[in-house]
Amino acid sequence: KNTILLNSRPEGKPQESDFKFVNQEVGTPSNNEILIESKYVSVDPYLRGRMSDAKSYVPPFKLNEPITSGIVAEVLQSENSYFKKGDFVTGNLPWKKQQVVNPENLQKVDPEKAPLSTYLGILGLTGLTAYLGLTEIGKPKKGETLVVSGAAGAVGSVVGQIGKILGLHVVGVAGSDEKVEMLTSKFGFDKGINYKTTDNMAKAIADACPNGVDVYFDNVGGEISDGVLVNINKFARIAICGAIAVYNKTSIPKALAVQPFLVKNSALMQGFIVSNYQDKFGEASKQLAQWLQEDKLVYEETMVKGFENIPQAFLDLFEGKNKGKMVVQV
Ligand code: NDP
Repeated sequence: KNTILLNSRPEGKPQESDFKFVNQEVGTPSNNEILIESKYVSVDPYLRGRMSDAKSYVPPFKLNEPITSGIVAEVLQSENSYFKKGDFVTGNLPWKKQQVVNPENLQKVDPEKAPLSTYLGILGLTGLTAYLGLTEIGKPKKGETLVVSGAAGAVGSVVGQIGKILGLHVVGVAGSDEKVEMLTSKFGFDKGINYKTTDNMAKAIADACPNGVDVYFDNVGGEISDGVLVNINKFARIAICGAIAVYNKTSIPKALAVQPFLVKNSALMQGFIVSNYQDKFGEASKQLAQWLQEDKLVYEETMVKGFENIPQAFLDLFEGKNKGKMVVQV
């Protein structure tokens, strides 16, 4: 089977049965088209939103049509003067082993410059999300305190490292002792908190942030965020990048009691969507590539092998089975 379709819209947690494997004809390229073969497929928490039909900033996936995500593919055959056989390309593409596409929205990527999978992670939308969410909404200043939730994941691990480059006190929240250890040993965070073994998040944040919290980069939402927000400082900035702790909830959770902390601290909370900042992608990509080259940034990947394991790799994001970026090698 060479294609993965959305079979049903998940109720709560997505299941394997929400996906369907089928064989679809590949065809041959003509008229500027290229034939490509998927090499690496990105699985991302935001795909959960597109599997449901609720109104959002991107249209929902259609039932019985392929799921799409970031893919790095090799050009096998080309009827396009810019793309040659053997080139590697990336873009948002259907979950197919091979496909004929019009490449106008694809970019070439260079395997000599960086491993191909990194164009889905630190050198792709993950890195841009971390950099632009932190700088555009977090507006961090040297010496301030930054808290990151989902800290050992793809976006969070980059946010914390950028925080350190910019001279902040950085605290990360993640879901295992192993991940927390990695935050300090590999990514250079000042402190990590395991939310699964901490019964009082507000106190844990207060202990880890003696000067309070100036910037909160939130990937998770829910109770972790409540614990952070009661510790915010005057004029704090809160970037809401994601809310994986609530994506699978079937009803809206009870009202939270953190609003008074926002009011009394004149704090600014703003939702962040990376695609709103496309005019800054060039500059941000350059900076990320430079830091990576200078070894100021490091990255972690969880690489799953096999096209047939794409749905499971996606489901595993909700169990915290990944460290850093979850990528499937086809
Ligand atoms: P991650 O690599 O962070 O993977 C998801 C991680 O979330 C898991 O490893 C797990 O880590 C954690 N997690 C899962 N369930 C829960 C839960 N119930 N409570 C707390 N933590 C949980 O994914 P990404 O870095 O790709 O994405 C991070 C966030 O950023 C997501 O919310 C995503 O939707 C958002 N995003 C937003 C973008 C935008 O433009 N707004 C663009 C890209 C991503 P642990 O073991 O620590 O629980």
